[in-house]
Amino acid sequence: MLVVREIETHYGASQALFGVSLNIKSGEVVTLIGRNGMGKTTSINSIMGITQITRGEIFLENEPIDHLESFKINRKGIALVPEGRQVFPNLTVRENLVAIAANRNKYPNPWNLGKILDLFPQLSARIDNMANLLSGGEQQMLAIGRSLMTNPKLLLLDEATEGLAPLVRREIWRCLNQLKKEGISILVVDKNVNDLARIADMHYVIEKGRIVWEGTSPELLEQKDFLGNKLGV
Ligand code: ATP
Repeated sequence: MLVVREIETHYGASQALFGVSLNIKSGEVVTLIGRNGMGKTTSINSIMGITQITRGEIFLENEPIDHLESFKINRKGIALVPEGRQVFPNLTVRENLVAIAANRNKYPNPWNLGKILDLFPQLSARIDNMANLLSGGEQQMLAIGRSLMTNPKLLLLDEATEGLAPLVRREIWRCLNQLKKEGISILVVDKNVNDLARIADMHYVIEKGRIVWEGTSPELLEQKDFLGNKLGV
């Protein structure tokens, strides 16, 4: 589905990524984990074309996408749920969901308002409320719903459950499990390693802009002590 090969990214003169490589197979949930400031957001933003890579290559289904603008990358089938949700604050829940809805790949059973409300029944009661009045958890559900309305093949989630109460976190993991069952590939950044180990197939640990470990969920749980200081958990 996605191949990221040896990418480097700079902010001006300062280098943030030093040859990051990762692979996501179709239908897989993959995590990118690491302490603060290690390059997780930069990796996600580099895949999405928000920050330009200076070396390396990124392929979506064998097609190079690293030279494309973000909106074109979205049209190819990647959607981002950004860190901090970034819902449109002065639009209602309904407006947030329909504003960027599209089915460019002509899926026979596309995401629509009804399907999003089935996935997150909590949003139904809030459908005509302004997004800035929602709780953090509801905003995250809305941000995920809004991304799904572009009918992606691959969903990128940056800090999926940051700042959310345990009950709401569980709701987000339930949703990701359901999306996985529907065959959507997912790359998720989060700090809850135990939760991630339950839903993900593969994990990548990033440290100072380099991937320093990769493995399956059982391998991650086995290595937890060794990885503890790299993850800060
Ligand atoms: P966090 O969880 O704190 O967001 P992260 O792992 O996502 O951490 P990044 O935000 O990707 O880390 O940051 C990687 C490095 O790039 C850090 O050293 C950071 O200071 C630097 N960096 C990030 N954004 C910028 C920017 N806009 N300008 C300059 N340097 C930046």
